[in-house]
Amino acid sequence: MEVTVIGTGYVGTVTGACLAYLGHRVTCVDTDASKIARLQRGESPIYEPQLEQLMALAAERGGLHFTTEIASAVRSSDVIFIAVGTPPLPSGEANLAYLEAAARSIGAAMDGSRFRVVVNKSTVPVGSGNLVEALVREGFSEHRRDPGIRFGVASNPEFLREGSAVADSLYPDRIVIGGDPATVAVMRELYEPLVAQVFTPPPGVARPSSMISVPLLATSLTSAETIKYAANAFLAMKIGFANEIANICERVGAEGPEVMAGIGLDSRIGAKFLNPGVGWGGSCFGKDIQSLLHTAREYGYSSKLLQATLDVNTAQRQMVIQKLQEKLFILKGRTIGLLGLAFKPDTDDLRDAPALHIAERLIQMGARVKAYDPIANAPCRSQYPDLKLRYCDTASDLAADADALVLVTEWREFYDLDLPALAKLMATPILIDGRNFFVPETAAAAGFDYSGIGRCTRSRATQRTAPAA
Ligand code: NAD
Repeated sequence: MEVTVIGTGYVGTVTGACLAYLGHRVTCVDTDASKIARLQRGESPIYEPQLEQLMALAAERGGLHFTTEIASAVRSSDVIFIAVGTPPLPSGEANLAYLEAAARSIGAAMDGSRFRVVVNKSTVPVGSGNLVEALVREGFSEHRRDPGIRFGVASNPEFLREGSAVADSLYPDRIVIGGDPATVAVMRELYEPLVAQVFTPPPGVARPSSMISVPLLATSLTSAETIKYAANAFLAMKIGFANEIANICERVGAEGPEVMAGIGLDSRIGAKFLNPGVGWGGSCFGKDIQSLLHTAREYGYSSKLLQATLDVNTAQRQMVIQKLQEKLFILKGRTIGLLGLAFKPDTDDLRDAPALHIAERLIQMGARVKAYDPIANAPCRSQYPDLKLRYCDTASDLAADADALVLVTEWREFYDLDLPALAKLMATPILIDGRNFFVPETAAAAGFDYSGIGRCTRSRATQRTAPAA
């Protein structure tokens, strides 16, 4: 099929490359000319494993193009995805300005030559499907286009995770499509290779051995829009729950990760998203919960659980500061090193990253903050020029003369750190492990005064040294 994807960010670029790899002819459009120029050269504008290789394979097949010209792309397409940003406004409401502009441009470009489907892939509040339909109509009536224009609007929320976006898009847990039957039929045809899993996996992105096909759930527009928000709210709440229990574990002398292993084995609960830590971040959870809360308020409903999910996460980031205060007492004039800046490993995305929140708070309290991230140092420097961080090129540079290290992002390469050498470089070898990444005993043997989240290292030490009864 002929496909246009509007917006070449984390979602649009991956969606475009995957659909082209599956055999569709895809044109990706963005208003940002510099992004399009990089994409035309085969470079991904974001750090996402396997994406550039997939783009190259899709381009070899002649199916992936990039342009700033929306009109001709729309006119030659059967399916037009909107994958633009929907960032939060100060009120918590989603900013739909980019979505509205995209919908108007689609309408202005349409003609009556074929039936088209306009797909909302951006995460949008309930009712946005209707809004898009109205704006597309406005777009073509303003331009006095062919009255025989036929189109449908679908909601096809995206569930990919940055860092594993290519695998998530090729092997999703489910595909959700909201819309009327004619619209859903077009989307079924588009996704048939994914649903039936009939394509050859690209090198380095193996198909999970258990995967035979992908369920496609057809729903109303409103249900599809709500599914995305509900899924993200649930995942954020699950992490928040793990953190709340971990905080209680610390106080009563239980070992948080053991407790999570114990509850995660219950098939009704499941083991994922239960690792206690400094809390979630990223461009989606916070913004989507705020947007859902805003929608609920518009309908006169106040959700205590959603609000608590936000509040618990904000408090969890503060937990690191408290742990530093317990160890160092005074933070003014101290040097704190942050291991990791990105909101999670394998991405350069810094949106709502816990590391930024922690750094800002420490700087406000008079500490000097250094940071080392294998990928996100440069994006952080350019996107947050006012943040007074000292960027380090190596973990050794970070540790040198630091009063404490805080692990915020669990990059795989941190497994290879020479912990005894780092501890020796520090003024005081304190390690706050914000992701329970290190084995406490290994960190202690390396010379660190170690604290994890929800880990009762003190009582464990007591148990070990207590004389046998
Ligand atoms: P992004 O900010 O990385 O990319 C958005 C792109 O849209 C930018 O390149 C911007 O220049 C472009 N754009 C804006 N207005 C445009 C217009 N009128 N015409 C053409 N291009 C335009 O955003 P993202 O992270 O890819 O997220 C996109 C949407 O997908 C959001 O609604 C987000 O909530 C949702 N989502 C994101 C993720 C994720 O992990 N990032 C996962 C699932 C869903």
